[in-house]
Amino acid sequence: MRIRAAVLHAYGAPLEVCELELAPPGPGEVLVRVAAAGVCHSDLHLADGHLGEGRHPTVLGHEGAGLVEEVGEQVSHVAAGDPVAFCLVPACGACSACAAGRRNLCEVAGAHAWAGTMLDGTTRLRFADGRPVKHFNFVSCFAERCVVPAASAVPIAAGLPLWQASLLGCGVVTAVGAVRNAARVTVGETVCVIGCGGVGLQLVAAARMAGAARVVAVERDAAKLELAVARGATHAVAAGEQDDAAAAVLALVPGGVDHAFEAVGSPTTIRLAWDVLRPGATATVVGIAPAGVEVALPALELLSEKGIRGSYYGSGDAAGLLATMAEMTLAGRYPVADVVTHITDLDGIEDAFGRLRRGEGARTVVLVDEALAGWPADPVT
Ligand SMILES: [Zn+2]
Ligand SMILES: [Zn+2]
Repeated sequence: MRIRAAVLHAYGAPLEVCELELAPPGPGEVLVRVAAAGVCHSDLHLADGHLGEGRHPTVLGHEGAGLVEEVGEQVSHVAAGDPVAFCLVPACGACSACAAGRRNLCEVAGAHAWAGTMLDGTTRLRFADGRPVKHFNFVSCFAERCVVPAASAVPIAAGLPLWQASLLGCGVVTAVGAVRNAARVTVGETVCVIGCGGVGLQLVAAARMAGAARVVAVERDAAKLELAVARGATHAVAAGEQDDAAAAVLALVPGGVDHAFEAVGSPTTIRLAWDVLRPGATATVVGIAPAGVEVALPALELLSEKGIRGSYYGSGDAAGLLATMAEMTLAGRYPVADVVTHITDLDGIEDAFGRLRRGEGARTVVLVDEALAGWPADPVT
């Protein structure tokens, strides 16, 4: 079938919304009519060529939600008409990473994600002239419809507006999983969140929910810092060019914090996460740095048993966590809506990339189908 999609033709080139041919779902695959998608920094990283060579032409978009239209053979967990949110790691359940409970690191999914194909090594997307177009992390939801592996279509409760569900599959799973599965924040601990964009704001909410006594938010942009405070940060540190953000955090939490989360992906902020730790504490890096970037740390401080680790996509069972967060969001027990600072359509994704490059705003939601997305969710009564 013909679909409209935002296509990345080359690194650094603006996205072009054009018509593509989408093949029907194969065995173990699902066709989804996309309602809404979040614009995440990783989309921009790929578009700017930061995630390795040869990943275009492609349709970006890896955080979204929609309605199942058709299922391929061997798919029984969803049926046409079911609302789903996308999981960008369709774990195989059988490789050594999956067997060890680290489904976010599934080796089979990782290899095909990097190649830009579905799990059988081919693509469902083509230009009108027949040239194949790559998938981005199996999802490619900057499009009217997409075909995804069954494990990437996670059923969610009817009733959750799909524009809210669209935010769960990357930012929320990444942040809540980092707090719960990687850092294991517990009641009464102190937390520092560095970078308060789409993921950082979710980290703040997740730390608050985990019972952190103090949550110090560090961010350059005043508006995002305000959002962080509204979502549960107890202290806000404005990180300017010449400010010493580490000293400001240590003044608020003498001796250092129990957990620092980095959600920017730059050497300076990763180093900041290290510098605000108390002895024995660990920094969790969620931000994605461009390929080739290195980080320097004062090696002597390893004597104090400080640690640093990465956390990718929630450090656990992402699909299970996604379903849990959908339930909590529907029940009003987890806030997602207030991270949305902009809405747009497929034609406006390039502008959203511009805002991300300038550090403006938190999440942009692409309302691919405004009515299906349920926007606005809460008409004033
Ligand atoms: Zn993402
Ligand atoms: Zn696996």
